[in-house]
Amino acid sequence: MMEFTVIAFVFGLTMGSFLNVCIHRLPLGESIVFPPSHCPQCHTAIRWHDNIPLLSWIRLWGRCRHCLAPISLIYPLVELLAGLLTIQVLWHFGPFWQNLGLIALGYAFIILTFIDFRHYILPDVITLPGMGSGLVLAWGGWLHPPLADFTSALMGVIAGGGGLWAFGWLFQKITGKAGMGFGDVKLLGMIGAWMGWQSLPFTLFFASLLGSIVGIVWMVATHRNRSQPIPFGPYLAGAAWTYLFIGPWVVDWYLGKG
Ligand SMILES: [Zn+2]
Repeated sequence: MMEFTVIAFVFGLTMGSFLNVCIHRLPLGESIVFPPSHCPQCHTAIRWHDNIPLLSWIRLWGRCRHCLAPISLIYPLVELLAGLLTIQVLWHFGPFWQNLGLIALGYAFIILTFIDFRHYILPDVITLPGMGSGLVLAWGGWLHPPLADFTSALMGVIAGGGGLWAFGWLFQKITGKAGMGFGDVKLLGMIGAWMGWQSLPFTLFFASLLGSIVGIVWMVATHRNRSQPIPFGPYLAGAAWTYLFIGPWVVDWYLGKG
């Protein structure tokens, strides 16, 4: 298992580099393949040995080698998260090929989380293919519990996407304020496609709880008022990811079957 863990971690770190490219370029509508990595300040191309996940950032103390502009802590953080997430799936679900889909889902959650925190959007280019791929994989029977079979996946898309859309519409009718963005609706549809409708109550409940706590702490700490937008995507993604590992157990316990 030790060598699997090392391989998984290095693979995750490397993929983390690519996730960074997506996080920084997708919201700007830029290509994720061209041009190669460059300093956001002086645009100097970054040589391969300065582009090694995690290590290069530490060695250069988070600065560009040429212009010494600070390089965001987001970069090594995303790489480390991707590495740890890959190990987490390996340890929890075992070294099987079919878990690569699950790892890809986790990477998509990382991209969406960081983009939503910064730009308050959840790009369709992630959520729609995310929803479609979940449905296709479930239809082919390639998803294994706690992921969805096809019926649960289909109901997940309808309940997740449709249910949240209806809730948002009603919220807006009653309060006159836009409650949730449609990005959140599509993300919940994507979660439903992969994890089935069974995952949605847990995901919505814990996302709301976590989002409220962080939102209140944030408002108190920064003295901002309630009109500031609060991204909901990161909490949906975090709660859904948590569901994979403890969700079915929590639901059983809650229903008194545990
Ligand atoms: Zn530079």
